[in-house]
Amino acid sequence: MNEKRDIRSLSLEQLSEAIKPFGVPKYRAGQIYQWLHQKGVTKFEEMTNISLAQRKQLSECFDLVTLVPVSVLVSAIDGTRKYLFALPDGNVIESVWMKYQHGNSVCISSQVGCRMGCRFCASTLDGMVRSLRPSEMLEQIYRIQADTGERVSHVVIMGSGEPFDNYENVTAFLRMLSDPNGICISARNITLSTCGLVPEMERFAQEGLAVTLALSLHAPNDALRQTLMPVAKRYALADVLNACWNYFEKTGRRVSFEYSLIDSVNDSEKEARELAALLKGRHSHVNLIPVNPVEEREYRQSGTKKIETFRKTLEKNGINVTIRREMGRDIHGACGQLRKRYLQENTVQKSDCVEEAKT
Ligand code: SAH
Repeated sequence: MNEKRDIRSLSLEQLSEAIKPFGVPKYRAGQIYQWLHQKGVTKFEEMTNISLAQRKQLSECFDLVTLVPVSVLVSAIDGTRKYLFALPDGNVIESVWMKYQHGNSVCISSQVGCRMGCRFCASTLDGMVRSLRPSEMLEQIYRIQADTGERVSHVVIMGSGEPFDNYENVTAFLRMLSDPNGICISARNITLSTCGLVPEMERFAQEGLAVTLALSLHAPNDALRQTLMPVAKRYALADVLNACWNYFEKTGRRVSFEYSLIDSVNDSEKEARELAALLKGRHSHVNLIPVNPVEEREYRQSGTKKIETFRKTLEKNGINVTIRREMGRDIHGACGQLRKRYLQENTVQKSDCVEEAKT
């Protein structure tokens, strides 16, 4: 039996090509694409300006990938919503919705689990199950828009998974995300975070996508970085940074550096000075993130005083820096913790039950 094609993963061009055999007028592909990506339909029957016969044809040839919310946690402090979604094959993933003055932002997952092995991260504890398709990344946004009734204006690829370990799907997803025929989110409002896969960073600079690139740095030298991130053994910091400067040169987009502060591991003044020396004179921005403790790991958050000293040392050296505000503290769970808890407590199955835990 032939597997049906995943219609929500097709670009408008691919969709036009795929329905050519139906002998329908050219504008039909545009109409279907709008149903899929602007109206976020979950069934072919909802495409009411498409004839019954054509809807039947579509359902015979294509799968319509739709995610099902398994649970939604809502923060009483700032309204942040953490979603656990079931994929069509029963795997579960996490996404987060955050409300800011500048708009609504969704943090999406790009893989089920992760295989990068960063020591402080919960997403990687059980390894990687599989990569997500474009439809499954887009659906995280569409379902959240449907649930909140509000438009999403910003997307960050900072949930579970390493986006450059799923390169083709992620770049296809990014093109669809900024397509005016779809949800049309401008590249300026999209951030992709990577642990630093150098060949993919170089390739990405050539894609003409010009989204903001964020690099997970977390240490100012190879020796320390290697103790926190296994990927640092594959790529030297100097090469990773060169790929960042090259990204800026090609796209004009300044790179963000994420630095999770871990008590007595990477948060001394000496490390702040070392970091400043790496970035001095470059177009960059440092995001300091108090590490989110993961049960299975021994790491603790740095104290407020140490965080302040770290920030000031960077600023004194002319480095742009912000301390990331913790959103949804009461419904916390670092990257991947929600899913991990769910897997421990449940047998994974398709479910349409939505539980709203207003804590
Ligand atoms: N794989 C990508 C994107 C996913 S992680 C990457 O490595 O960038 C998104 C960000 O959260 C990364 O900077 C990651 O290092 C960081 N992160 C993961 N677990 C964390 C934790 N427990 N506390 C603070 N930051 C964490």
